[in-house]
Amino acid sequence: MDTTRRRWMGWTTGAAALCLARPALAQMRYRRSISRLHVIFTPTGREWRGFWDPAGANEEGTEALTALCADHRTGARVPIDRRLWSALALIGGDPGLARWEVISGYRSQPSNIEVGGAADSQHRRGKALDVRLPPALLERTALRIMDLRLGGVGLYPQHGFLHFDTRGTPATWYG
Ligand SMILES: [Zn+2]
Repeated sequence: MDTTRRRWMGWTTGAAALCLARPALAQMRYRRSISRLHVIFTPTGREWRGFWDPAGANEEGTEALTALCADHRTGARVPIDRRLWSALALIGGDPGLARWEVISGYRSQPSNIEVGGAADSQHRRGKALDVRLPPALLERTALRIMDLRLGGVGLYPQHGFLHFDTRGTPATWYG
C-alpha cells in the first residue's frame, strides 16, 4: 500500500478525520458568503464564471452549469445538484483553486457504460462531479469536501482527480 493510500485510509476511517473536520467546518461557516466560481468542463473546453452564493438558489448559475456539464457525447442533461457547486465555491479560496477543472458531470447511460461507471453511478443523476487537481492539492481538497458531509468522496491520485457526490450518506474510497 503506498503512502498516500495509507494516509487517505487513515483520514477516512479514523478519529483523525474528526479532529481535522472541526477547524475546517468552522472556517467554512465563516466563509459562507458569495464567492466567485470559475469552472472549465475539460471534455469541451467550455467555461463558466460567475458569482455563487452557497446559501442561495443561484438559478442562472445552476442552469448554466447544468448546460456546461451535460453529457458531451449525446448532449443529454439533467439538472446538476447545485450543492456540488456550493462545495466548490466554499473551498475555492485556496491558492491554486481559482479555476475548477471538471472532467465528468452528468453521464447518459451509454456514456456511463463507455467509461466503466457503476450502474447506479451518481453521475447518472446529476449528483456527482469528477474534478482534476494538481497532485499537491488533491488529498487536501478531498478532505475538505469530506468535511461538508454531502455524500461520497473518491480519491484517484493515479489519475489526478477526485470524485464527490451528494448521495447523502458518507462513503469514501481510493481508486
Ligand atoms: Zn465520478
